[in-house]
Amino acid sequence: MYTDYFFRTYICEKYHSIPGKNSILSSPIEYLKGVGPQRADLLKKEAGIFTFNDLLEYFPFRHIDKTQITDIRDINSGTDYVQVLGKITSIEILGQKSGKRLVASLYDGTGELELVWFQGINWVQKILDLGRKYRAFGKAGFFMNTPQISHPEMEEILEGSPEKGLFLEPVYSTTEKLKARNLGGRQISKLTYTLLKLFSEKDIPENLPDQILAKYHLLNRYKAFRQIHFPASLQEYMEAERRLKFEEIFISQIRLGLKRYKRHTFSKGWIFSKVGDYFIEFFNKNLPFELTDAQKRVLKEIRKDIGSGRQMNRLLQGDVGSGKTIVALMSILIGADNGFQSCFMAPTEILARQHFKSIQSLLGNLPVKVGILTGSTPAKEKKEILKGTASGEIAIVIGTHAIIEDTVIFKNLGLAIVDEQHKFGVAQRAKLWEKNEISPHVLVMTATPIPRTLALTAYGDLDYSIMDEMPPGRQAVTTVHRMDYTRPQVMDFIKDEIRKGRQVYIVYPLIEESAKLDFENLMKGYEEVKAFFPEPQYHISMVHGRQKAAQKQVNMERFIKGDTQIMVSTTVIEVGVNVPNASVMLIESAEKFGLPQLHQLRGRVGRGSDKSYCILMTSVRLSADAKKRLKILCATNDGFQIAEKDLEIRGPGDIEGTRQSGILDFKLANIIGDKKIFEIARNEAENIIDQDPLISSEENLALRSFLLLHKGKNSWSMIS
Ligand code: ADP
Ligand code: MG
Repeated sequence: MYTDYFFRTYICEKYHSIPGKNSILSSPIEYLKGVGPQRADLLKKEAGIFTFNDLLEYFPFRHIDKTQITDIRDINSGTDYVQVLGKITSIEILGQKSGKRLVASLYDGTGELELVWFQGINWVQKILDLGRKYRAFGKAGFFMNTPQISHPEMEEILEGSPEKGLFLEPVYSTTEKLKARNLGGRQISKLTYTLLKLFSEKDIPENLPDQILAKYHLLNRYKAFRQIHFPASLQEYMEAERRLKFEEIFISQIRLGLKRYKRHTFSKGWIFSKVGDYFIEFFNKNLPFELTDAQKRVLKEIRKDIGSGRQMNRLLQGDVGSGKTIVALMSILIGADNGFQSCFMAPTEILARQHFKSIQSLLGNLPVKVGILTGSTPAKEKKEILKGTASGEIAIVIGTHAIIEDTVIFKNLGLAIVDEQHKFGVAQRAKLWEKNEISPHVLVMTATPIPRTLALTAYGDLDYSIMDEMPPGRQAVTTVHRMDYTRPQVMDFIKDEIRKGRQVYIVYPLIEESAKLDFENLMKGYEEVKAFFPEPQYHISMVHGRQKAAQKQVNMERFIKGDTQIMVSTTVIEVGVNVPNASVMLIESAEKFGLPQLHQLRGRVGRGSDKSYCILMTSVRLSADAKKRLKILCATNDGFQIAEKDLEIRGPGDIEGTRQSGILDFKLANIIGDKKIFEIARNEAENIIDQDPLISSEENLALRSFLLLHKGKNSWSMIS
């Protein structure tokens, strides 16, 4: 039943004297004056506003400047929205039928302005009085040289009252359905105004520590909410926005930090206590090169984790070709030394096979058994492998997502390595952890770097390692952009490279929506390549998505062995293929690829000591964004820089997988524009967790209460 408003406000008032759950902020939205059950339903459905707090956090997306009063004589053809203040000197009804309108004159001592209404004339007649003072706001125009506003917003200025109402008016997003129920932007603004009047400072308690407020000159929370909705100036708005953005990021970083802390402190992890024969023998006899300092450092970080008795959950970021695989393998060997199995998950079948092969060859005679498990592993072989994983005979299982199927049972899985491809496969990772009673250690490696702010958000609960150094002797890949009318010259250049004994990739785009067209383009391209590079002098491999895994494998192998000089393919080779003798990467229709993809493809060359080239081929007509992408790629080889630029060009919403995973669900903060705030808030959150991990000290009480009240998705039982 609909109980009356007075009663409800009474309840609210009672509520807000009780701290915690029953605060006025959690009152259902229908209790707000002017809402009621029906509009409340709509607010819930259309805008996700369920409580007072939700409305409070329903931020305006812009403000209309009503801070200025303009003199009428200053209005000119360039004037947009104006606000004027004056007396009504005449009111007339003009015209007939559809031309009927009410015209009033407003005089402010500097000039006269016409106010015109075509609709609601009766109502306007009632509210307008000759000789009284009004504030009028609207879009200025001219009619017969007289300035005019049609359908202005009017407000009467009472004699003797202070001239109120000079402010920035908030504009809220709304929907057609809301508007139909009288819940347009202005009505929402009124509700917000009503709401804010209900609150006093204690209803919106501070949640940031005083010392942080002082250090960064942040507004208190109560003020910030008032000012973000109803600022008196732009300055006030910006202060409010900065404070609330900081809070938003800080709280999310505290939550992630608490998750990390919880894992570091309370999780159980297998202890890989010793470095044994496998590792030592591999290190002394099999390691084909000296590790880079970055590789050594990261291995140390990993060793510390896996020896700690807590579960490792680490993100390893390294550029393409920085040598992540060997770090993974050496970690696996420590696991084997301690009697544990490991798995190594790759995003594609080809890559899984590639890892399988290169790990087998790196291991050489070392008695460590490796198995491979993918979607296309034949049933009989699969059975054997499953037997081996269950008995513990197989120490390393490499594969695709097939590894996390329920049928795969490990005797003692100690370490899971995930080679990720910009997919933020959080769910998959989680599944992997649950395999055994004690979760295995997890190392997530990104195929190409992701921007730091994104990493802090998407993987903020993981520990973070970075490999910012390339193996020695690498030469930067020279990247050029060529128009397709220069194809003959490009092909001649490729012939020169092949003559020198090098190999070449030619890659065609793969867009899933138009698989048929892609395939046709690939075939056309293949014919063209064959015409330039005829047998028997030249041999070409081709790999694409329509081939069976075995066929792909054979073609890949021929190229890896050097039996073919040219590999024509779709993006199936995108991640991780390693043929050091390849020195040219020719990318057809390069404008159709995203930056990380292009960078990843380019990373297939420049792996040996030979000078390598990446040629981006496009037609002459290019979009501005495509031009930007290609330019960036030609300018730098640094994957970290490319990741940042990519984020700038595309915006956060477009990065694959981010939307579904909800990791960028910030109301105000923006991982591109607010990079600085991210860094600061992250550091402060880390400091707090270092010093006061249970958030129980005096100065963090405000934060503590807030976290207890807003437990978020990952409630943290340990503090309650
Ligand atoms: P990514 O980080 O892209 O996965 P890989 O692990 O595939 O890179 O390594 C790229 C290439 O660099 C491989 O051929 C690998 O053998 C080689 N490599 C890795 N580490 C070193 C090193 N420290 N010195 C020389 N070559 C290395
Ligand atoms: Mg790799």
